[in-house]
Amino acid sequence: MILYPKLYLNSVKEISLELLKKYNIKGLILDVDNTLIDYNKNMPEGIKEWADNLKNSGIDLCIVSNTNQKQKVKDVAKKLGIPYIYFAMKPLKRGLNKAKKILNLESNQIGVVGDQILTDIIGANICKMFPILVKPINERDIWVTKIKRPIETKIIKKYQKECKNNVTKNNANEGEKNVYK
Ligand SMILES: [Mg+2]
Repeated sequence: MILYPKLYLNSVKEISLELLKKYNIKGLILDVDNTLIDYNKNMPEGIKEWADNLKNSGIDLCIVSNTNQKQKVKDVAKKLGIPYIYFAMKPLKRGLNKAKKILNLESNQIGVVGDQILTDIIGANICKMFPILVKPINERDIWVTKIKRPIETKIIKKYQKECKNNVTKNNANEGEKNVYK
């Protein structure tokens, strides 16, 4: 399902090494707005440490952001010490495929992490990468995102219902309630 993530998490910080290992993910493409920083460009506590820990364990990271504000993306990339692509026009393939080249991995080894279904998740699915949806850091969005949120909320509700049904059907454990199979 092109609209669905494989995993739905509260924050990027929940993406652990164990989780990546489980799904054979060797690199992550990261969204910026409301995934790594909030509307006021603040990066929540622990994100830098989270990124450092993954990097030190051999997970390659690359930013792919739709914003055309180069400096904003560059600042985040610099802080985390990772490459970046801005004005990427997700869900179109171009930006994500550029990052794939940088990461030098197969599509199915790459997790795409973002807070928006209509850009990050659809883009990942089109590119046959592993889509990971995270909750937005805060409620505040730029206007173009604000318009999309009600649609996305509906999709997420449907997604969660289907995940729940799968858990019951397969006797899976509670930890898999936001995993789409
Ligand atoms: Mg975003």
